[in-house]
Amino acid sequence: MNLILLGPPGCGKGTQATYIVKKYDYVQLSTGDMLREAIKNNTPTGKVVKDVLASGKLVNNELIMQIMKEKIEETATSPGRIFDGFPRTLSQAESLNALLSQNNLSIDLLIELVVNQEELFERITKRASESESVRDDDNADVLRKRLDVYNKETKPIIAFYEKDFFVNKIDGMQDISTVNKLIDKLIENNTKH
Ligand code: ADP
Repeated sequence: MNLILLGPPGCGKGTQATYIVKKYDYVQLSTGDMLREAIKNNTPTGKVVKDVLASGKLVNNELIMQIMKEKIEETATSPGRIFDGFPRTLSQAESLNALLSQNNLSIDLLIELVVNQEELFERITKRASESESVRDDDNADVLRKRLDVYNKETKPIIAFYEKDFFVNKIDGMQDISTVNKLIDKLIENNTKH
């Protein structure tokens, strides 16, 4: 199962991915988490991307695809993958198609979590105020930039996928467990038994 979770920053992709991982034993491939881990460990990649993340801009496509290629190969035996925060540009979406077909894999399920922009602001500022280790990019200024980047660069990939796939829309304003249940149903209906 290759599942792509789409939606803006703060829409709940990470929260839902964590839940799916627990229940289905899938792996979560979150490029954001991978990059933050690289920054924390001060790896060569971490050094390159630190300022980019703090600014709310996107890391370059080549670097992201290099990381993703490794992760897809590493997870060859996993029952499923959840792509979370990736792809984020049309170029990445196209490269992912190529990468999956090279590995005889396909996209099995696409889910978009739909949340309005005011709610996103509230959620992320709340997350920043409650978290002990505040992310460099969880403040109002950078968030505005991230939403801007999402609308310009990432949102168009939904229409791109809709040419070939059905993109399941879930109202992400509902409570976490309701969203969980809806995702569950989609996974159950899309898993080959
Ligand atoms: P969010 O909470 O905004 O969904 P993420 O944790 O997915 O954030 O990503 C945080 C930051 O990491 C992004 O603003 C961007 O700088 C970088 N990033 C993550 N994934 C990608 C990607 N696929 N392509 C380019 N940059 C990325």
